Amino acid sequence: MDLSIQGVRKMNEPHTNRFLVEMTWPQVEALDPQSTVVLVPVGATEQHGPHLPLGTDTLVALDLVGQVADSPHVLVAPPLWCGMSSHHMSFGGSITVRPEVLVEYLVDVISSLYQHGFRKFLVINGHRIANLPWLQLVGERLHRCLDGLRLELFDPAYMAKTLSGHFDFGPVGHADEWETSHMLSAYPHLVRHPLVDGPLDGHEDYQVDPAVTGDTLSFMPSRPRRSETGVKGSASKSHVGAGEQYRKHLVQGLRRTIARMAQATDAPQGEKP
Ligand SMILES: [Zn+2]
Repeated sequence: MDLSIQGVRKMNEPHTNRFLVEMTWPQVEALDPQSTVVLVPVGATEQHGPHLPLGTDTLVALDLVGQVADSPHVLVAPPLWCGMSSHHMSFGGSITVRPEVLVEYLVDVISSLYQHGFRKFLVINGHRIANLPWLQLVGERLHRCLDGLRLELFDPAYMAKTLSGHFDFGPVGHADEWETSHMLSAYPHLVRHPLVDGPLDGHEDYQVDPAVTGDTLSFMPSRPRRSETGVKGSASKSHVGAGEQYRKHLVQGLRRTIARMAQATDAPQGEKP
């Protein structure tokens, strides 16, 4: 199976796409750093039930950036394939990287591209809430030490809040109907059948869906295996049509965000405390 970027995204014309690893240095130097928004796909390598691949979260982020990689305003940085996945280590194949390592790594990636003149960065997080704490640390730290930097986070679970309740789908879980529909639409060859359902937590203490009202805890601790399959949600409700609409909604939000950031001329210093 080809898991190169070429293999997992929709192909653009080889000389018009904006994937950094497929470009040459003169092509990169020819970009306008003032208007270019650097997209940084961030995901995870962790269990996603018996029906989805371990790379689902990174693949989801790559799918989204792949759909906008023909934009004249973007440059796509190499993806981070691993994230913070300590809560999935009781299932085979999951890889977790310490948050302090992830922070240092991403700080260096973004600092390198800053050194080359780029100032606008949009992190596309395919790993939902588990990556957000360390990503927020990265943003805060870089905004304090790099003048003129603008860094924002794009998270599908937050960007799709308005779709909550659509398609007869339940709340955000894990390897659930949302992720599975996305994968059925974007990478059908990587989805195994049958699609497997699993219990949502019996309480709301660790509800990760930002659209669910009520107070919840937001830190997901490491824990022993609590279900047979690792699935939280009703993957059997998944279907390609929902995946298409969900992706379309996300890509519209992504294009809107890129356009706003590309046009922004004000350095965000005023937003510093
Ligand atoms: Zn996932």
